[in-house]
Amino acid sequence: MADGQRIEASTVIWTTGVRASSLTEQIPGERDALGRLHVDSHLKVIGQDDIFATGDVAYASSDDIGNHALMTCQHAIVLGRHAGNNVAAQLLGVAPTPYSQPKYVTCLDLGAWGAVYTEGWDRQVKLVRQEGKALKTQINTQWIYPPAANRESAWAAADPLIPIA
Ligand SMILES: Cc1cc2nc3c(=O)[nH]c(=O)nc-3n(C[C@H](O)[C@H](O)[C@H](O)COP(=O)(O)OP(=O)(O)OC[C@H]3O[C@@H](n4cnc5c(N)ncnc54)[C@H](O)[C@@H]3O)c2cc1C
Repeated sequence: MADGQRIEASTVIWTTGVRASSLTEQIPGERDALGRLHVDSHLKVIGQDDIFATGDVAYASSDDIGNHALMTCQHAIVLGRHAGNNVAAQLLGVAPTPYSQPKYVTCLDLGAWGAVYTEGWDRQVKLVRQEGKALKTQINTQWIYPPAANRESAWAAADPLIPIA
């Protein structure tokens, strides 16, 4: 605690919220309640000709039924692929790739008990306990793990057409 007091606990639940980088405030445009810039399907900031936003600073529609990307790795990785591709596409004068990510999952690690894995925006529980934990481990060590630090691996990982598993 701020006064130096210590509270022993076996479980700590942290409920701090999230907020987009203050860099977004330098860009004219509409922002959501978290400070993220509204972007079009190519991740260009709405109302700007040459500014793209991605990851945690983009308020991007992720499907055709009203859902938007969240400030998560699963969205940031795919958003990043599209934004990088589309910035280059604009410079080269070729067609951009629209961002779409209808699939949404959550995987919550609950320590020794295991983990809970859900699918869909209504969070249908698909895996629990050690099955969920095995998937969480795979997510953290493979799916969201950065590619090897060489040009070939980075280039392959940046492809916006990689299917979303
Ligand atoms: C504690 C914590 C736990 C999380 N756990 C999960 C989780 O379990 N699952 C999940 O899906 N998501 C999780 N997230 C969210 C996830 O990490 C983010 O959504 C994701 O990293 C966003 O990626 P990004 O590339 O948009 O931004 P970032 O990963 O924040 O990258 C932005 C980069 O820009 C750099 N930068 C900032 N300002 C400047 C500047 N002026 N000039 C140059 N560079 C600059 C920063 O140093 C940083 O490297 C967690 C986040 C936190 C903080």
